[in-house]
Amino acid sequence: MSEQKLPTRSEDYSEWYNQVVLRAELADYAPVRGCMIVRPYGWALWENITAALDRRFKATGHVNAAFPLLIPRSFIEKEKSHVAGFSPELAVVTHGGGEELEEPLVIRPTSETIIGHAYAKWIQSYRDLPVLINVWNSVVRWELRTKLFLRTLEFYWQEGHTAHATLEEAEAETSQMLDIYADFAVRDAAVPVIPGRKSASERFAGADQTFSIEAMMGDGKALQSGTSHNLGQNFAKAFDIRYLDRNGVLQHCWTTSWGLSTRFVGAIIMVHGDDQGLILPPRLAPFQLVIVPIFKNDEEKAAVLDNAQKVRAELVDAGLRVKMDDREGLSPGFKFNDWEMRGVPLRLELGPKDVAKGSVVLARRDRPGREGKSFVPQVGIAAAVAGKLEEIQKSLFDRALEFRRANTVEPADYEEFKKAVEKGFALSWWCGSGTCEEEIKEETKATMRCIPIDQPGGSGHCVYCGQPAKEKGIFARAY
Ligand SMILES: [Zn+2]
Repeated sequence: MSEQKLPTRSEDYSEWYNQVVLRAELADYAPVRGCMIVRPYGWALWENITAALDRRFKATGHVNAAFPLLIPRSFIEKEKSHVAGFSPELAVVTHGGGEELEEPLVIRPTSETIIGHAYAKWIQSYRDLPVLINVWNSVVRWELRTKLFLRTLEFYWQEGHTAHATLEEAEAETSQMLDIYADFAVRDAAVPVIPGRKSASERFAGADQTFSIEAMMGDGKALQSGTSHNLGQNFAKAFDIRYLDRNGVLQHCWTTSWGLSTRFVGAIIMVHGDDQGLILPPRLAPFQLVIVPIFKNDEEKAAVLDNAQKVRAELVDAGLRVKMDDREGLSPGFKFNDWEMRGVPLRLELGPKDVAKGSVVLARRDRPGREGKSFVPQVGIAAAVAGKLEEIQKSLFDRALEFRRANTVEPADYEEFKKAVEKGFALSWWCGSGTCEEEIKEETKATMRCIPIDQPGGSGHCVYCGQPAKEKGIFARAY
C-alpha cells in the first residue's frame, strides 16, 4: 500500500510490472537471488488457476501424484539431448547429513527422468496403458536473469506425464493438452492465445515435437504461456519403459509431458493491467468484488455496516468471492485506489443514502470513472453482480484480442518485418530453415514463437531468404 504513483507503462514497462507485483502484494523478493516469495494474494490467484486446470485434467482422465524433489544425477544423463538442455541450469546437492554424497543429486528441473524410472517398473502390459499422471510441484532451474513470476530460480507449476501404447495416442494426448491450456487461457484468464508448434531450435530438450500457447503482452512482446511435448520413444528408450502388446511382443511406450507455471500470473498482469495497476479477470480474481462502506459518524457507521453485512452475506451465498474493506482510519478514496491497484474487478460502494434507498453503487475496474458506475437495487443484487462480472470477463478478452490484432502484421517484405517485431507480432511465411530463424534472431531479436495450428493455407516465400514456404510462423521478441 502506497500513495506514490506507479510508473506508467509507456514510461517504463518493466518497472511498472515490478511495482505492480510488489505493491499489489502478489510476490516479494527472497534472500536468495532469483527466488520468489509468493504472498497470500498472489497465491490465491495461483490457487484459482490450479483449480481451473485441475478440473480440466481430471475431466480428461488424469490423476495427481507426487514424486521426489531429489533426483540421482545419473538419471538426468540418460537422455542425451535432455542432459545437454538442462545441465547449465542444474542445482546439485553434493552433501547430506554432513557427509559428501557418493552420487550427487540434482534438484528436479523437471521430472521426466524420475517419473520415467517409476513408469519402467509400473508398466508391463498393454493393460497398464495409458498412464495419465499429473503432478503439482515446484522445480529449480538456475536462471541468470530473473524477474518475479516470469523467470525465477524456483517456480511452481504442474507437469503432466503420460505413457501410451502408440504414437497416435501420444499425439492425441499432446494435442488434447494444448487445447486444454488454450481453453483455460481464453475462458478463465481472458487471455487470447495462439496455439502452435515450436521450431526445432525452440523444442523441449528430449522432445520430438513441442507445442505451445503464445500470448501478446501489453508491450507487444510474446510470452510462452504453456507447453505440451510429444516425447516420442526417447525417454521410454532411455529408461526402458516397455510393455507387452496384445501379441506378446515387447514394445517401447510413447510418452508425453506438458506444463503450465506461475509464469502465467505474469501473463495475466501484462495482458490486462493498466497505468492504475492490476486488472484481474473475474473468473480467477481472489476477490471478485470489494465492498467499501462509506460513513461520517458512528450512527451512520452502524447502519451502513449492518446493511453491508447483509449484502455481503447474500453475495457469498451465491458463491461469489467477496472482500469487505472495513479497515479503520482510511478514507474511502484511499480504499478505492488501493483495490483498483490490486485489480479487483468490481467495487461496491455503500453509504447512508444507499441504505435509505435500498441500492448500491457498482464500479467496474476495467472502465474507470462515471462510465463504469451504475446504481443497482439491493433486491436481486447477486444476479446483478454475477451479470456484471460476466460482462467484465468478456470485455477484458475482447480488449486483449483487439490489442493483439492491432499489433500483429503480415509483412510484405523483411523491412516491414523488422518494423513489425519492434512493436508486436509478425505473422510471416517461413521456409522452415534453422539458418533463417537464427539470422532473423540475430538481426532483430525476434524469435520464432510458434507455427500456428490454424494456418491460412496456400504458400508463399520465406520473409528472410525468399525460398518457397508452406507455413506461416509467429515471430516476436519474447519474455
Ligand atoms: Zn528462409
